[in-house]
Amino acid sequence: MQNEKHRLSFYSKIISISLLIILSACSSATFFHITPVRPVNELISEALKASPPVEQGEFRNPELFELTKLDSTIHLEIGYATNNNFLSTPLYSQARAFLQRPAAEALVRVGQKLRAKGYGLLIHDTYRPWYVTKVFWEATPDNLKQFVADPSKGSKHNRGCAVDLTLYDLKTGKTVDMPSLYDEMSDRAYANYSGGTDEQRKLRDLLRAEMESEGFTVYEFEWWHFDYKDWQLYTIQNIRFEDIPQPTP
Ligand SMILES: [Zn+2]
Repeated sequence: MQNEKHRLSFYSKIISISLLIILSACSSATFFHITPVRPVNELISEALKASPPVEQGEFRNPELFELTKLDSTIHLEIGYATNNNFLSTPLYSQARAFLQRPAAEALVRVGQKLRAKGYGLLIHDTYRPWYVTKVFWEATPDNLKQFVADPSKGSKHNRGCAVDLTLYDLKTGKTVDMPSLYDEMSDRAYANYSGGTDEQRKLRDLLRAEMESEGFTVYEFEWWHFDYKDWQLYTIQNIRFEDIPQPTP
């Protein structure tokens, strides 16, 4: 959900956290779930026929680079390609991760710096086709709409300039413990949350420091969400992962 929550006020988020927890019927301990207002498969087929908003201005040509092809130590856990997401059904047909070229190259440099400290990058979400943002919006009840981006405006994920990620331990391959779970809607997810263990906060702050050193900015309510500095230079895209052209070596 990430980018779409970015305009949330603190208080509306707190109220909505309570609502979302009440609505969470699933026993999964690692993902929040809601009951979609209409069948998601219907919404997907409608959204695929719709068109994103036309934006005025000059934009760079898109160059979505696949992260795992740039650096094999970048690992993926793409919940939106599985049932493990808030709509409990796959939204992506493939578990892949793309960013615009400068953001992808910056992320690879972040990974190199962290590798020297014993950690690898684990990616949860990156570029998101616009139609998926529309499905999120249409599937979400009105009282939870603030958790999802308005498709008439799109999101930074739609521009290929936002990434949700965490760290894994290079020795064990295990995901590190952070102050909250990914997509957890509580104050533990806040980038400046002062609770949790010293080790959890140290790892969260290490990720943030290395991301900031390469032009990414953390979202204050989610330690895992980062925007790349040039996001305004890219327009909303709607291309599906399987149709993204990849440069020939
Ligand atoms: Zn995000």
